[in-house]
Amino acid sequence: MIEALTFKGDTIAVFGLGRSGISAALSLQAGGAKVWAWDDNEQTRNTASAHGVKLADLTSADWSEIDALVLSPGVPHELPETHWSAKCAKDADVPIICDIEIFAREVMARAPERRPKIIAITGTNGKSTTTTLIGHILSQCGRDAQVGGNIGRGVLDLDSMHDNAFYVLELSSYQLERTYSLKPNASVFLNLTPDHLDRHGDMKGYEAAKARIFDNQTREDAAIIGVDGPEGKSACTRLIAKNNRRVLPISGRRSLGRGVCVIKGKLYNVMDKRCEMIVDLTKAVGLDGEHNWQNAAAAFAAVRALGLDAKAIGRAILSFPGLEHRMENIGSVGSAKYVNDSKATNADAVAQALKSYDNIYWIAGGVAKEGGIESLTPYFKNINRAYLIGDAAPDFMATLKDKKIPAKISGELRMAIMCATRDALASKAKNPVILLSPACASFDQFKNFEIRGDEFRKLALEIVSIYDRERANAAIVKGAA
Ligand code: ADP
Repeated sequence: MIEALTFKGDTIAVFGLGRSGISAALSLQAGGAKVWAWDDNEQTRNTASAHGVKLADLTSADWSEIDALVLSPGVPHELPETHWSAKCAKDADVPIICDIEIFAREVMARAPERRPKIIAITGTNGKSTTTTLIGHILSQCGRDAQVGGNIGRGVLDLDSMHDNAFYVLELSSYQLERTYSLKPNASVFLNLTPDHLDRHGDMKGYEAAKARIFDNQTREDAAIIGVDGPEGKSACTRLIAKNNRRVLPISGRRSLGRGVCVIKGKLYNVMDKRCEMIVDLTKAVGLDGEHNWQNAAAAFAAVRALGLDAKAIGRAILSFPGLEHRMENIGSVGSAKYVNDSKATNADAVAQALKSYDNIYWIAGGVAKEGGIESLTPYFKNINRAYLIGDAAPDFMATLKDKKIPAKISGELRMAIMCATRDALASKAKNPVILLSPACASFDQFKNFEIRGDEFRKLALEIVSIYDRERANAAIVKGAA
């Protein structure tokens, strides 16, 4: 745990006692602050109390005594509606912060030469993949990587601050809008598409929250920006105009004069003196698809900017196993491979998978999101046949029929994967892919996307093992004959 020593003696209100609220409260207590923690939900309060968090009813507190409010990232301080705790804080001129701000102040309190390195990652899509990949590269290159924030461990739950550590932090826009002092050595802004607009008002507000990741950087820091979309391009131009940090554009699909780019799967380093091809990403097991090439380019730029060896980074990228439920390669039967993309709950995410493969045997369905799958029409040409499950099956069937894509209603995942495997093996298609990329939430049939993906993986591995056993038996019989 990181003890929050910079708040020693202060009175700090903590509202929202989920994972990050509990760890903020404990870190503040350990550092010598007086903590008044609260949550609207009684059971959540009891759980926090059982962890040793000191509760105080903030609804009747004297806010003039409070020095700061640590507000859980998910609780709005303005839009769509100001939470009562944020209103109390504003009325009493109490600053509203989050756990990332506490971490940032601890870093800045250390002498400059004793500060750990910080790599911060944000963007609408690809944050978790890029964050995990950076952690993987650092570990493979023998560095002490502490990975957390909006993924895995909360930032204050990471190992206590020490020299030579690299803190790799996934940051959401909700966290960034309550962070003021963070000065990452490398900041990554991957991409921006409309999301969370109820909270940020409009795209401008959303972009402004994300762009805070660059706010305190200076000349020696690296600002890494994905320029495959218009928002990234203009953010890049604005940062370059400021001329006070090292701006590194990255692209997953086109050539760049500087920065890092991927062309037809080959990653080029254009950060150093000469342009050099580093690694062929088509050989990486965990990074299928152009969107992942953007993530790999960003990860390369971040760790290279911090001085890691380019070739060693390339080797580490190749050994990245990928993230579960995000175009996760599971195994193969013959030339057909299973890919688990259960995290793809909306059409935008599914588009990334559909454009990454040919000869797809597509398993989709569940509880549909607004808009259905109509927007995926440009990628339907990559689908050989679809297998539909859950509530959305009839609607998806109608759309696919309309577009003349062969499809059947399988109902359940087990039936879908069996039929897809049979058809893929019977086809003469080159390297068929049996893809679960549902374009739907899971809760009609599964508690969450992770359980849905786990079930798909389990079924796929069962089929792989039966297939391997039968082939081994056939080889023995043939050998004996
Ligand atoms: P996040 O943490 O931002 O939600 P993930 O790394 O978990 O992102 O990826 C979630 C999904 O987002 C993936 O399954 C994929 O469909 C899509 N995705 C990942 N990286 C990118 C990217 N760079 N650009 C666009 N979409 C992406």
